[in-house]
Amino acid sequence: MNPVSNAAFIAKTTSANHEEFFAKRCVWVNGPVVVGAGPSGLAVAAGLKEQGVPFIVLERANCIASLWQIRTYNRLKLHLPKQFCQLPNFPFPDDYPEYPSKDQFINYLESYAKKFDIQPQFNESVQSAEYDETCGLWRIKTALGADNCTNKREVEYICRWIVVATGENAEKVVPKFFGFHEFGGDIIHACEYKSGEQYRGKKVMVVGCGNSGMEVSLDLCNHDVQPLLCVRSSVHVLPKDVLGKSTFELAMTLLRWFSLRTVDKILLFLASLLLGNTDKYGLKRPEVGPMELKNTEGKTPVLDLGTFGKIRSGQIKVVPGIKRFARGKVAFVDGEIREVDSVILATGYRSNVPLWLKESDFFTKNGFPKAPFPNGWKGNAGLYAAGFTKRGLSGASEDAIRVAEDIGKIWKEETKQKKPPAACHRRCISQF
Ligand SMILES: Cc1cc2nc3c(=O)[nH]c(=O)nc-3n(C[C@H](O)[C@H](O)[C@H](O)COP(=O)(O)OP(=O)(O)OC[C@H]3O[C@@H](n4cnc5c(N)ncnc54)[C@H](O)[C@@H]3O)c2cc1C
Repeated sequence: MNPVSNAAFIAKTTSANHEEFFAKRCVWVNGPVVVGAGPSGLAVAAGLKEQGVPFIVLERANCIASLWQIRTYNRLKLHLPKQFCQLPNFPFPDDYPEYPSKDQFINYLESYAKKFDIQPQFNESVQSAEYDETCGLWRIKTALGADNCTNKREVEYICRWIVVATGENAEKVVPKFFGFHEFGGDIIHACEYKSGEQYRGKKVMVVGCGNSGMEVSLDLCNHDVQPLLCVRSSVHVLPKDVLGKSTFELAMTLLRWFSLRTVDKILLFLASLLLGNTDKYGLKRPEVGPMELKNTEGKTPVLDLGTFGKIRSGQIKVVPGIKRFARGKVAFVDGEIREVDSVILATGYRSNVPLWLKESDFFTKNGFPKAPFPNGWKGNAGLYAAGFTKRGLSGASEDAIRVAEDIGKIWKEETKQKKPPAACHRRCISQF
């Protein structure tokens, strides 16, 4: 079933500017509009397919899983074992390693889209989405065309349901530093970093000590760079594996029998046994334990891939917070000044939902559902979300199953009784 019909909605215009008129289209979608073709959007789409619900997927990039294909570094592997990262009804191939590489994960997602016949509309970025109470439908406006395309076309989709799957990492966070404009060296965000190759022979500073900052620092070391790692706040570093078993898997197993706090105590004991005292090397631990911190604030502990060893051996030098930048130099809060050629900002990401979704009951102003997991997947008036659980791919899969089942149920009930409301179409046309 084709969910889209647009021919009926080209209306007459009084505007003399025909070019502008034909640059806009209004499209009725018979089913939900899924925004984002990352793992969450794909998982929702696959679930809808299984429920027999027609849908469209809008994706701003020119490919599925753009975070993985375009905005990640070459050496990236899944941080968690594959059994915690698979999407619903589609296990990873048996010959994949426990931690699949980025390319293997992308191949897996391509096969997923193929298996469920998901064909997103690429280069189509949602600019706004608003619920129209008069007709009880969502109006979703997009700009069609690649990012660098000057001749973008606008489309307005009208639909009964919208599924927000634009991700927790939609936009990079770039903090403002005093004197940043004076620096003169090259500055990139970790989402633009590919490999340490181009940094050979340079004085590099990595800002931020989450999983990305730690791994970028390690990659730089592997390309003979001795980076500075700027650590402003506290961080939990845990060994990736304990006695050959993934620490994450161990924590999940222990949580079946013990409280969160007890599991945290066990994890911290194992970390001190295997890594020693991280405080001594400038990586101060937060007062709250790693699992509790993840649960309350969504702050992911760092799973050490070898970076800590490089810190201990002095190949990576931990430096405190930045006071200011100057030409080719950085001054730190402890009064030290160091020469730096290049800066890599591993300063995180944020949701972009507040930029385009005109709604404030379900989402916070930071672009995350107000209700904590597992209740942050359904809002009012046909609004859904998938992938905002701060629980990675496993949380996204759980959301996707709930969203698809819920829409499937309503779809089956409603299609038995009614056809899509026709009166609303004319109202939409009159906007042009
Ligand atoms: C470096 C890195 C490593 C990670 N490793 C793991 C891991 O090992 N295991 C794990 O579980 N999680 C991991 N994560 C978390 C990871 O982000 C998610 O698990 C996964 O990518 C989330 O999928 P998503 O579909 O929700 O979001 P995304 O993958 O971010 O996909 C969202 C999609 O929406 C599109 N989009 C955004 N805004 C718009 C718009 N306005 N209009 C149209 N399209 C839009 C984007 O282009 C993107 O393609 C990692 C994250 C990073 C950054």
